[in-house]
Amino acid sequence: MSAVIEQVFSDPDIYKIEVPFENLSTSATNCYVMKDGGDVLVVDTGAPTDEGAAALSDALDKLEVDRDHATWFLTHLHMDHAGLVDQVVPWGGFVLYGATEAATVRASRTGMFLDSLRREYRRQGVPIGSLSVAARLGIEVQMFDPDRLRSCLMRDGDEVAVGRYTLRVIETPGHTTGHLALYEPSNGILFGGDHALFVISPSIALFPGQKDGLQAYFDSMQKVRDLHVKHLFHSHGPVRDDFEDRFTWLVDHHRKRLDEAAGIIERIPHLTGYKIIRTLKWNVPFDDWDDVPIMQRYIMLTQGVVYLNHLVDTGRIVAKNYGDGILLYESAK
Ligand SMILES: [Zn+2]
Repeated sequence: MSAVIEQVFSDPDIYKIEVPFENLSTSATNCYVMKDGGDVLVVDTGAPTDEGAAALSDALDKLEVDRDHATWFLTHLHMDHAGLVDQVVPWGGFVLYGATEAATVRASRTGMFLDSLRREYRRQGVPIGSLSVAARLGIEVQMFDPDRLRSCLMRDGDEVAVGRYTLRVIETPGHTTGHLALYEPSNGILFGGDHALFVISPSIALFPGQKDGLQAYFDSMQKVRDLHVKHLFHSHGPVRDDFEDRFTWLVDHHRKRLDEAAGIIERIPHLTGYKIIRTLKWNVPFDDWDDVPIMQRYIMLTQGVVYLNHLVDTGRIVAKNYGDGILLYESAK
């Protein structure tokens, strides 16, 4: 399998590698190789498929990446970013990823997390039958074996040296609770992961017990805007220059969805979260909720709960529990 490699920047040389992976909205993960003065940085890997492993390996060989001495940086631990670490990073490889991301993934594997996720869905009135599937899908985050690697957990402001360049870690929670971007200030380059994409509006993480994920995303968006990025290298789809417009679009998109949910609650008070989420207009090619594939339905449920939580946190709606543990929503006005 030969990979699609494109040089997207020179001095420092940066190459985009498309690692194939078909899912709901994308056909590949963009991994990046940055080279300077004999140093090599690889940003993200790809989904754990044989085809992807072959494509990435081929690209790394063609770009003459010395895997033993490369620095491997993971923007987040979704399987289409961290899924090939075990296949491509050699024993003792130097792998950097988010401290918060690592803690979240560890926590999401515990029974306590599963219980709290089940409780969250129960509170929203999701039928019992869907709960176990939804909860199971919620923890399907691909993790590699950290014991065989030299792992380094990164936090906001940490630095990564590549030749003459020093890149700064920017925590950008929202898409995942520990999502990271990597910023090179002298050229205004941002390796942005899934923070802002053109092919899809990135999903927002729901992690029971943690703060409003959508507010975290809005705050991360402002943080990225304040960097005045000149070149955004994101993880799915072609590299484009008009990302500032896309930042605006993404925030507006979420604000419209919030208004839509608040409008439904104002018109029809005392609905469950599940009913409100099913009433929202989703951009999917299905008229009937039951025809939507389970994975997509789960994402819609998660995003719906994220919107409801944000509306409650910002005081626009209130959630009332009439004793059976299921929340009914009404306007705060
Ligand atoms: Zn992702």
